[in-house]
Order: sequence, then C-alpha cells, then structure tokens
Amino acid sequence: MKLYSTNNPSSRVSFKDAVFNSMPQDKGLYMPVEIPRLQQEFLDNLDKYTLPEIAFTVAQHLLAGAIPDGDLKTLIDDAINFDAPIVELEENVYVLELFHGPSLAFKDFGARFMSRVMAYFLEEGEKQLDVLVATSGDTGSAVALGFLGVPNTRVTILYPKGKVSGIQEQQLTTNGQNIRALEVEGTFDDCQALVKQAFTDAELNEKFRLTSANSINIARLVPQTFYYFNAYAQLLRQGKKKVVFAVPSGNFGNIGAGLLAWKMGLPVEQFLAATNANDTVPEFLKTGVYQPKATVATLSNAMDVSSPSNWVRIADLFKSDTEALKELITGYSYDDEVTLKGVVKIFSDYKYVACPHTAIAWTALKDWLAKQNDAELAGVFLSTAHPCKFPDVFPEQIGKAVVIPEQVKALGDKPKQATGLKADFDAFKQYLLTH
Ligand SMILES: *Cc1c(COP(=O)(O)O)cnc(C)c1O
Repeated sequence: MKLYSTNNPSSRVSFKDAVFNSMPQDKGLYMPVEIPRLQQEFLDNLDKYTLPEIAFTVAQHLLAGAIPDGDLKTLIDDAINFDAPIVELEENVYVLELFHGPSLAFKDFGARFMSRVMAYFLEEGEKQLDVLVATSGDTGSAVALGFLGVPNTRVTILYPKGKVSGIQEQQLTTNGQNIRALEVEGTFDDCQALVKQAFTDAELNEKFRLTSANSINIARLVPQTFYYFNAYAQLLRQGKKKVVFAVPSGNFGNIGAGLLAWKMGLPVEQFLAATNANDTVPEFLKTGVYQPKATVATLSNAMDVSSPSNWVRIADLFKSDTEALKELITGYSYDDEVTLKGVVKIFSDYKYVACPHTAIAWTALKDWLAKQNDAELAGVFLSTAHPCKFPDVFPEQIGKAVVIPEQVKALGDKPKQATGLKADFDAFKQYLLTH
C-alpha cells in the first residue's frame, strides 16, 4: 500500500510510515494512492460472512500486502473481537450499535486496530513507542483500552479536570500497566496545546519516540470501514438492498470511513452528515462556503468541532467534483433543544435510550426519510457511544432506564490513578522527563 499527502499528491510513503508519522510534514493528510474496488461477487454475498471475515477481506484489499495475510488475520481477530449489530427500531429504521467494545464507543474500532498495527511494525529491540493523547473523553478511553498491555508501548493521556463524565474518568484512570493519566487543571484545548508543543520539543523528541493517536491516523480510518460493510451484510439478511447511513459527525472520521467503503464498492444511496450546532459542513453543503466559526459547547460534546480534521480527506475523495459530493452527502445540524427532543422521542417511541450524539443522527434520518417515497429504503443511524457515558444529559426517567454494562460496574472497584498537572508546558515536560 502506498499513500500520498493531500497537500502533495505526487508524494509516496509506505503504510508503516504513514502510521508512525500520523500526519505528513506538509500538514496534509495521508490518503491511499489506490482505493481498490472489491469484487462484485464478494459485495453481493456479504451476508455469508462474519464481521472478522469481512474486516479481513476489506483490509487485505486496502493494505495490499503491507501486512502479510496470516499476520493481518491474527491482528484483525484480536482487534475486532466484539460485535456491531444493527437493531430494528421500526420498519426500515435501524440503529447500528458501535458501542460494544471495551470503551463503549465506536472509537474502539480505530484504537484497537491502530495499537496492534503499531505493535506489529515495532521491530524487536526498537525503542518503546510513547503515545501522547489529549482527550475530552471518548478518544482517551478508547486509546487507553486499545493499547492496554500492548508490548513496547506506553500511553500518556491528558484530560481536563472535572470536564469528563464519571465513567469516562474511570476508563482513563484505572488501567495501570502501560497507561498513565494526567489530570490537567484546564480545558481540553489546554491539553491539546501541551501535546502539540511536546511534539515540537527537540529534547523530548531526542529522548522519546513520540507518536500521536489522534483521529487523523490512517490506521484509525481503515477499521471504521469494516462496520459499514458488516451493517450492509446484516441488511442483506433481512432482504434489504438500499441503504442510507446517518452518521453523527465531529471530526468526520466516521463518515469519512463510510465514504471510503462506498468508494470500495459498497452500494450506499445516501450519507447523512449530522452535526450539532457546530455546523461548518452542513453549511458548506447548503451554501458552498466553507467557513469554520468559533466552536460552541453542546450536549453532544464529542462532536464539538468546528474545523473537522478529516474533511480534507473527504474533499480529496471527490477531488474538485463538489456536485458529486453534494449529491451523495446531505448535511443536517441541530441544537441542544432538538437533540434532547430526539432523546425523549426515541425513548417514548421505542423504549430505547440513545446517547445525544446518536439522537442527532436519528433526527437527521427521520427528517430525510420523511421526504422520500421509497418503501425499499432502509435507514441506518450510527450509535457512536453507549448512553451510560453521558449520564448528565438524560431526564430522570430515561436515565433510570440506562442499563450499565458489566465491564463498567467493575471499574468502580478499581482505584483512580492520575497525576495532577497545571496547564503549563514546563511542568508537563518535567513530568515526562522524570517519570
Ligand atoms: C468521536 C465521537 C463522534 C464524532 O466522530 P468523528 O469521527 O469525529 O466524526 C461522535 N460521537 C461520539 C460518541 C464520539 O465519541
């Protein structure tokens, strides 16, 4: 597999280099030179395969030999060891549950695959890989649990004190082993600024082999294509062939992976890009003007992004054909009031509890379906996280209906291990050098 930078289409790097660099020097993003179309035979018979089998075939084609078949299969069976079921809530409306991994969010797909790819490429005797990650909640827990126990790696998580939910904090701080948590007196932006500065610090780079685990890493994008194919496989089993996906979007990695799956031949009628009040992309799709505003805080805080980092990739997929892009993707943006209304309606209609991000995708799907007249269309909205991760959002009656998964209950018994840190680079650097 060869990749180029979106800022320099004639550049070429290997998959291994793209994974360890994360971002090209020229600040573009890595994209595969070849996006192979899967065989029609395979696509037509997806319903005959399991998720790990689908994942293997998709990765095998995309990675094109970057990891030999036997190793790739072992790696995928280890990384993708949980389910991604679709659940029918009403006729032709399905939720794709992506929260059955260890951190209870879809980011487990990316984090688990990436950690294992990195461990695979680390050669024996090589310097330990130090992963630095700033988080507002979900990324940090997926990365922590993804790298937990992975040999020759160490993860340092920076999270803003008092600004993540109770369960998120437990997921970040109770791991031990090769995972350590820094509780920063500041905001998520402060955490991110500390990490960014560390990457440009000569002394730290001399001493450590630093890498970031953020959502632009190509090794996080690849495994997110798997569950789109697998959702389609499940629809085929129900006799459905026409699908629209509604995707709750922040940095646009999730929907970007869906578009990559579409490029590889997955037949998708339409993608709905559903955002909260941070509506840069829906506005662009409507007006043609791409104009990020200041980020606003919302109930769906994992999507509080006004400059989506993966948008460059999506634009690159369509080159300059904005019309084709607008034909395939419809944008929707909703404020907190509508988000909460969605949460309440989903509960009253289906007795189902959806996290606020998921509720935004459901609202977009319902709005879109209301304008269609095609009984064969199946709508699938992606549920990106388990509702127990966002307990403060729900009215009391709905909150009581949230079933806490067993693995979360077990976290409560483990001691919190976190080091307090001022939002100050010298203090952060000192910590890294002395611990
Ligand atoms: C990260 C996240 C999103 C946004 O996904 P992107 O790939 O950044 O668009 C949505 N919902 C939840 C729960 C998340 O954790």
